[in-house]
Amino acid sequence: MSEPDPSDDPSALLARVWGFDAFRPGQEEVVRAVIAGHNVLAIMPTGGGKSLCFQLPALMREGVTVVISPLIALMRDQVRAMKQAGVEAGALTSGNTEEETEEVFAAIDEGRLKLLYMAPERLASGGALNLLRRANVSLIAVDEAHCVSQWGHDFRPDYLRIGELRRSLGVPLAAFTATADEETRAEIVTRLFDGAPPETFLRGFDRPNIHLAFSPKDQPRQQILTFAAARKGQSGIVYCGTRAKTETLARALREAGHSACHYHGGMDAEDRRNVEVRFQQEDGLIVVATVAFGMGVDKPDIRWVAHADLPKSIEAYYQEIGRAGRDGAPAETLTLYGPDDIRLRRSQIDEGLAPPEHKEADHGRLNALLGLAEATGCRRVKLLRYFGEDAADCGNCDLCDNPPDLFDGTEAVRKGLSAALRTDERFGAGHLIEILLGSSTDKIMQRGHDKLPTFGIGRDLSRAQWQAVFRQMMGHDLMRPDAARHGALVMTARAHPILRGEENITLRRDLVTKAKTKNTAKA
Ligand code: ADP
Repeated sequence: MSEPDPSDDPSALLARVWGFDAFRPGQEEVVRAVIAGHNVLAIMPTGGGKSLCFQLPALMREGVTVVISPLIALMRDQVRAMKQAGVEAGALTSGNTEEETEEVFAAIDEGRLKLLYMAPERLASGGALNLLRRANVSLIAVDEAHCVSQWGHDFRPDYLRIGELRRSLGVPLAAFTATADEETRAEIVTRLFDGAPPETFLRGFDRPNIHLAFSPKDQPRQQILTFAAARKGQSGIVYCGTRAKTETLARALREAGHSACHYHGGMDAEDRRNVEVRFQQEDGLIVVATVAFGMGVDKPDIRWVAHADLPKSIEAYYQEIGRAGRDGAPAETLTLYGPDDIRLRRSQIDEGLAPPEHKEADHGRLNALLGLAEATGCRRVKLLRYFGEDAADCGNCDLCDNPPDLFDGTEAVRKGLSAALRTDERFGAGHLIEILLGSSTDKIMQRGHDKLPTFGIGRDLSRAQWQAVFRQMMGHDLMRPDAARHGALVMTARAHPILRGEENITLRRDLVTKAKTKNTAKA
């Protein structure tokens, strides 16, 4: 078995094969340990992204990774997804057709197979071990490893054969589970690892010392300057969406008396290295950067991270704010977002080269991030739930500090949805809002939209307030801009029960009332 090629980069593979822009909390450490060939026990919540922790190392290691899993449907799903991504994967289960099994055997014989999913029952058949010996196995991954526990509800007797398999193949084993009580863990160590403690990962995802806050963009540069001014002399990072902005914002911070410099991928390697070294050594330097800054940064006392633009996804957000407060002392964050960010991210996704199903997933991830930005309750609860972990209200986020004033937004949302419906879902928020406000714009007059029953039914809110309502509707994934129709807002299935009067929806009043500016009649 050879060592992985050090020039291979797990993050690059993550982007290329899965289309993900960042690891989820905990994934990267596990991935690195598995790639390095350590015996590993990882306890991660359901939905936390365990599969990737053996799939990605499988691609970086020579030979075949055998995956033992008790769930046939899940194995088939994963095989399908891996094949779609261009990875040689196969499954040996009782549900196989003869052709499927033969295809797997052929791929093994030709040395092509990277991932071999096996139901535990297969380990009972004499032929299985011979097959695996022939297959140049370099890693065994055990999903739902708690099934080895005789005292648990999910005990699978065939899981007891896995220890023997590991011994006879002499390869590392990585075990994964979401159930983590101490007894079960001890039993896993005994039965799968012969009692030799594996490298164990059991870390809650939470970083309770990091204060979370989001704010809609109002005067974005001023918002960042105000945030930095309150933390003068502390080391911080400001993430920006563009290279140009890192330079202008760093200049503005210097003019305000901070020690600040910019950092982006367009700078030459030496300049970048200088910034990294300065940041490491100096106290109180602010680095204004694109996401290119971070990988090599290992500074424990970064006191704050601000996002001047909306990050790409919850994963990216969490990874970026997670650079603050590694020493465990309090750290603060602020993330700004506005309609332009949302539009930009949507069009980046739509115009990207990713296959359609990646794009759909990217939109879903963006929606999740918007949902977090416009959350109605504790942000940490929402964030951790996204990663599969339950939590109580944290007391360390802006929404716990100042619980938002909520109101029943059902009526406003229904008006918004019906404006879209009456115009065949062919227009963006701007035009729909003008209809609701009853404006006599050229576009409205030309299309006869002043004759619609929705014309002028939204005069109780201002234009800016309607923008906030539409943004929250998008945050709740009731509507999505359709790239094929120039960003026209199209309803999702979630909107139907609200339109039919079967469900109500709660909105945040602060985001609606903060949306100041009066209606200046657009005639
Ligand atoms: P588990 O087995 O831990 O319950 P999965 O491996 O099925 O979880 O992953 C749950 C979901 O999270 C899947 O839809 C997967 O595609 C997604 N996911 C995993 N890792 C990432 C990541 N780094 N970025 C975005 N999505 C991810």
